[in-house]
Amino acid sequence: MQNHASPQPIPLSKIKGIGPAIARKLNALGIFSATDLLFHLPLRYQDRTTVQSIGSLQSGHAVVIEGEVTACNVIFGKRRSVVCKLKDQSGVLTLRFFHFSAAQKKQMVNGQRLRCFGEVNINRGSAEMIHPEYQRINASDPLPNSTHLTAIYPTVDGISQTRWRNYIEGAFAVSSNASVETLIDAEKISAIKQALAADLFSSLKLLHYPPATIDLSLMSTGMHPLQRQLAFEELVAQRLSHLLLRKNNLTTPAIAIRSNATLEENFLGGLTFTLTDAQQRVLQQIKNDIAKPQPMMRLLQGDVGSGKTIVAATTALQFISQHQQVVIMAPTEILAEQHFETFTAWFANLNIRTGLLVSKIPAAEKKQRLTSIANGEMQIIIGTHALIQEQVNYQNLGLIVIDEQHRFGVDQRRKLKDKRLDHFGVHQLVMTATPIPRTLAMTFYADLDYSVIDELPPGRSPIETVALSNDRRGAVIDRVNNACQQGRQVYWVCTLIKESEQLDCQAAETTANELDSLLPNITIGLIHGRLKPAQKQIIMQHFNAGDIQLLVSTTVVEVGVNVPNASLMIIENPERLGLSQLHQLRGRVGRGEIQSHCVLMYQKPLSKNGKQRIDIMRATNDGFVLAQKDLEMRGPGQVLGTRQSGANLFKMADLERDSDLIPDVVAYSDKLIDQNPTVAKKLIRRWCPLASNYIDV
Ligand code: ADP
Ligand code: MG
Repeated sequence: MQNHASPQPIPLSKIKGIGPAIARKLNALGIFSATDLLFHLPLRYQDRTTVQSIGSLQSGHAVVIEGEVTACNVIFGKRRSVVCKLKDQSGVLTLRFFHFSAAQKKQMVNGQRLRCFGEVNINRGSAEMIHPEYQRINASDPLPNSTHLTAIYPTVDGISQTRWRNYIEGAFAVSSNASVETLIDAEKISAIKQALAADLFSSLKLLHYPPATIDLSLMSTGMHPLQRQLAFEELVAQRLSHLLLRKNNLTTPAIAIRSNATLEENFLGGLTFTLTDAQQRVLQQIKNDIAKPQPMMRLLQGDVGSGKTIVAATTALQFISQHQQVVIMAPTEILAEQHFETFTAWFANLNIRTGLLVSKIPAAEKKQRLTSIANGEMQIIIGTHALIQEQVNYQNLGLIVIDEQHRFGVDQRRKLKDKRLDHFGVHQLVMTATPIPRTLAMTFYADLDYSVIDELPPGRSPIETVALSNDRRGAVIDRVNNACQQGRQVYWVCTLIKESEQLDCQAAETTANELDSLLPNITIGLIHGRLKPAQKQIIMQHFNAGDIQLLVSTTVVEVGVNVPNASLMIIENPERLGLSQLHQLRGRVGRGEIQSHCVLMYQKPLSKNGKQRIDIMRATNDGFVLAQKDLEMRGPGQVLGTRQSGANLFKMADLERDSDLIPDVVAYSDKLIDQNPTVAKKLIRRWCPLASNYIDV
């Protein structure tokens, strides 16, 4: 391990193409220097090293092709599009563009050579690419093939893949071996020893620019030794930050909450159901926590539909009765809105005032809400990230509930609890449906105590899951029709190309149009990430009320939505999603007493792994069993599932895939924190840059 002074960080301004505006965007992602950019690691890779012949293409693969334009026309259909034919010696392929400029169209003259990269769709024998990336080429001046795999980076609005590639190239140009210190003694850890051939700088270079000869199947599942080495480092850093949080927490006082049993009885007595044993047990654990003059930090895990919300509400009640405000933070506006309605209904009789705070509220209205939050008039405030914005002041923040914890980072939780201005800490309850196996949760989330609701409310019949291939689409649509005729509601989830939210939305739009014309008697709603929050809200309200019978969506309905009358869920291309994400989606149905069904409509041919995952989904409804299977398979499902869904809490590690590393991670970090706090701090700085701002080592 190096012990000399750390290298001076090279500022982003030294990198070509990064001005102040981009620098601010990067800062928000925790990237402040060239070295930080080197640690912005690829999500996955594309092989663009060989040009494929059109005749040999298979559906569903992303490939490079090259050919000559033989026709190019604007088609005026439901949506205007440019359609080109591209020909090589082996066949013809169609290129389709929905967004295009006149100049772009003009370039596509007959005889123009193009090199395209995109995903191939084969429909009734004819191959098509929608919105490929393309370059025009001169026959006399052939384009060299790329020599390494192309990295795809996690990103935010306004930074394209091309830009990421340029920034990272720029960062390498100003960096050297000395820019990245070795902070982990990898020799001591058997699981990652094999990666040691290279120093960290060279490892990073390989990860950004893997040679075409590298084992892509290992790389794409995150199991390459280089990746495992970095995953280990990252897990150590994460655990260190959790350990330090816990340490800080233990020295903070908090308001002790004495439970008011009468109030609780009144409240629970007004519900239409009684709590399950599991719910009661967890509630008792929580009440024990909050009775202490120390902040509660409890992780509540419970499968989708297990009834976490009522546990949070009952906890909230105890705080209100002692004049402490409660904040519930949810990852999406849809979910916040839904919680708001649920809480408002539950608390109406008790004269407890609930309020909603999301970002897009008219200014005057927002001002008013902020005032009633600040003066304590609002007792339970439900919202999204808007709750942590600077202008929000609370009067007496006592409890924070975070729903779907895996969508938030430690730093967001921290920002929220810092809103309490006196020296008291804030009690925290973080909830998740992500089935992290218990031992993992307990060893890894070192800052949190752990509770689980391991029982579903009675009277639910398990969801029946079937798998059908895409060519049975007609039969699936009939089924949707039948369900709606019987007064049931249906979800239809479209998943297409994960890194393009835009194309995903397009797919949902196209499907909604198709279903609209095939099912004229059914009211169809469409919801996706591109809609304005207010629009989404209206659609969800209509679906909630039963006015919309069939809801076509992208994966935005994934989290938390609760409409008990919905009994059928269609998931297109399930083979592209991880088991956990599929389980979350499927959990939107089976919430009432009606028998519910889930149709996994896959695209042929299924890979072995894809088939295996679909079989598992059919075999079990149990989130914990699914998590266990995921662990056993360690398939790319997880890589697809959590890392791409915007919840990039980890850059490299995957708690489930890398669970075999955890014992070593725990031992290593527990020792390091005592023996070498300086290195511990550097590791936290490297991997959790935003968290490092507030953790004192
Ligand atoms: P999740 O744990 O996925 O957040 P919810 O809290 O949304 O689940 O609960 C799912 C549904 O089950 C809600 O309609 C809720 O009112 C209902 N529910 C919760 N607890 C019980 C119970 N003990 N008995 C019957 N229904 C319940
Ligand atoms: Mg929930």
